[in-house]
Amino acid sequence: MAHTPQDPAAQASRIWADALALLKHNSSLTARDKGWLEGVIPEAVFGTTIVLCVENLATQQALQKDLNEPLLHALHIASGVAMFPAFKVEPRHAETLTPSVHEPQGVSHTAALVDPDYDVRTAPTVADLGQESYRPDDQPIPARPVRSARPLASPMIPTPAPRPLAPAIPEGTFAASRTQVASDPVTHLNKNATFDTFVPGDSNRFARTVALAVAEGSGRDFNPLCIYGGSGLGKTHLLNAIGNYALVKDPTLKVRYVTSEEFTNEFIEALQNPNQSQGQIAEFNRRYREVDVLLIDDIQFLGGKDATLEQFFHTFNTLYQANKRIVIASDVPPKNLKGFEARLISRFESGLPVDVKPPDLETRIAILRMMASMQHTDIPNDVLDLIAERFTENIRELEGALTRVSAAASLNKQTVTRALAEQTLQDFFTADVEIKPTDIIGQVANYFHLTFDDIVGKGRTKNVSIARQIAMYLCRENTGMSLVDIGEVFHGRDHTTVMHAVKQINQKMQQKQEIYNYVMELTLRLKQHSNGK
Ligand code: ADP
Ligand code: MG
Repeated sequence: MAHTPQDPAAQASRIWADALALLKHNSSLTARDKGWLEGVIPEAVFGTTIVLCVENLATQQALQKDLNEPLLHALHIASGVAMFPAFKVEPRHAETLTPSVHEPQGVSHTAALVDPDYDVRTAPTVADLGQESYRPDDQPIPARPVRSARPLASPMIPTPAPRPLAPAIPEGTFAASRTQVASDPVTHLNKNATFDTFVPGDSNRFARTVALAVAEGSGRDFNPLCIYGGSGLGKTHLLNAIGNYALVKDPTLKVRYVTSEEFTNEFIEALQNPNQSQGQIAEFNRRYREVDVLLIDDIQFLGGKDATLEQFFHTFNTLYQANKRIVIASDVPPKNLKGFEARLISRFESGLPVDVKPPDLETRIAILRMMASMQHTDIPNDVLDLIAERFTENIRELEGALTRVSAAASLNKQTVTRALAEQTLQDFFTADVEIKPTDIIGQVANYFHLTFDDIVGKGRTKNVSIARQIAMYLCRENTGMSLVDIGEVFHGRDHTTVMHAVKQINQKMQQKQEIYNYVMELTLRLKQHSNGK
């Protein structure tokens, strides 16, 4: 990968983004360790050397000493070859904080290597490293004081079950989701979702093989490729893998990943623009009709949106006739899509529909092993077995269980053992009890001393918002309801709001002990309540 001929700066950005994502998921690193990484700016790659700009010698030393091993490891995985960092110390100023595209800067490799104070030139750019807008001075981010066990600062909020105090973890340094870290601003691809990180098994092998053929450009007969199957089984991952691989093969391709929701929103935005003389619709059409590979996710959400579907139909036809690649993901086989005209369904069916199924036990274990190794978390085999045996239907759930176990260990500064995993996950193993969304909302309201209407209503105070997000998360985790159905229960909110809530709580559970405790305790209460205890 590191040897594909391309711009050294872009290559450095890409490798560093991937390495940083791996390092951020490395639970053997402390928040302080991760703090050093935040100020690093990748500058260029020369052969197997990556030039990393750091702001001060202290950062350089930390990276070369304590962090050396995980850094080399992450760089190796991210680039596919043994890669070594060369550091350049470059103090920066506050006004350089705005993230901007990383321009090639024509670095002298030798100078970068030998002179730590080498040439402070134009305001350096901040590569797409993340959201935090602080700059370390001589120290990494000071660990923020441990928040009180009642972060919502409301006397109304119950004290969580007693647990050891959480280590101070600065917000946003620990658990950026894979998607968030690596989404490319142009293609919208998640760069971490590749074929390399997609574990094959009987449940997905055919889909993977065909996806690879499409990505390579040999699967022209499979146009459009339509990947369908239940939630959390790897459809989005495969779409991204196709896009990423196609770009590796041919970096000049125009690839675009889009969810049907984004497609709809962009179309509506273009329509609503009062000044149509500016050609917003034409611009929308141009944007989509000039791509070489269109990857459209969760197509089922276009159902019934007639104007958008009409627009999509034309986009589809233009691309199809120009022999461009189109890949669609859906939660049902194309023929079962609701609210789609027959002509579009028959177009979809004229390509190749392939399904992804729930993985078998061996594949689940292999997936967990891969996820653990990506996070550099040491998870004993018996814990992987335990999780794989208990979570059978959905890879997202497997990932969630693994995250919960490693978060529990990391927050409590323990190693991961089967006993800890059992304890952490036991609440979730009381399977087969039916939990209704109204029970969840009632329990959450009760727990936070709010009313049912507060939770489903429009109030936006911080307490209510967090409680509502937790309720949505619990609905997603504990019922078989779709995002759309959950949105309905919460007074007709859009499914994207639910999706956002689930993501937020997932992240916060890793960052904040108290949120983790709330979710655990509420889950336990719900299971006990539904068991009639
Ligand atoms: P879907 O789009 O079908 O709902 P996703 O593609 O979002 O599912 O997959 C859910 C999670 O599981 C993602 O984090 C994804 O990377 C991971 N995942 C799914 N299938 C695999 C696989 N075969 N190997 C590794 N990770 C996988
Ligand atoms: Mg998906």
